Amino acid sequence: MHKVLVSSCLVGEPVRYDGSAAISRHPVLDRWLQEERIIPFCPEIAAGMGTPRPAVELLGGDGKAVLEARAWAMGHSGADVTGAFIAGARATVALCQQMGIRVAVLKEGSPSCGGTYIHDGSFSGAIIPGQGVTATALRERGVSVFSEDQWEQAEARLSELEDR
Ligand code: SF4
Repeated sequence: MHKVLVSSCLVGEPVRYDGSAAISRHPVLDRWLQEERIIPFCPEIAAGMGTPRPAVELLGGDGKAVLEARAWAMGHSGADVTGAFIAGARATVALCQQMGIRVAVLKEGSPSCGGTYIHDGSFSGAIIPGQGVTATALRERGVSVFSEDQWEQAEARLSELEDR
């Protein structure tokens, strides 16, 4: 049975920067939890960033630009946390490779996990199209990344893989 990587905060773990969770409710998630298919993972915690921690936004580009050293990740306090973000992305990729994970459902909007949009680096709440550092790294390694608004699409991708 294929496992599915899911952002820890979506399954209720209080790992977000402010110590909260971002729990997602959906019948597909419930079924996958019952089937013990879910592997919860937080790249930022894996990289040693504690909870709570300063909010982080990407400056100069999105996750792809960060991985190509054209942009960086900065905490609200001004600290450069690019190294930790890249380490978290690498840890996530390594876990997926080790476990043969091909599908991930990640928290939208996060500088690590966002799949289609992120914050714009101004800490004003504004969002821009783009993906987070971990979401980018996973896609570059062939993992299909979905958001918490796309449980059905993730399920369809999983069925496609399991029917092969
Ligand atoms: S890095 Fe991802 S898993 Fe961790 S708190 Fe942020 S959105 Fe959730």
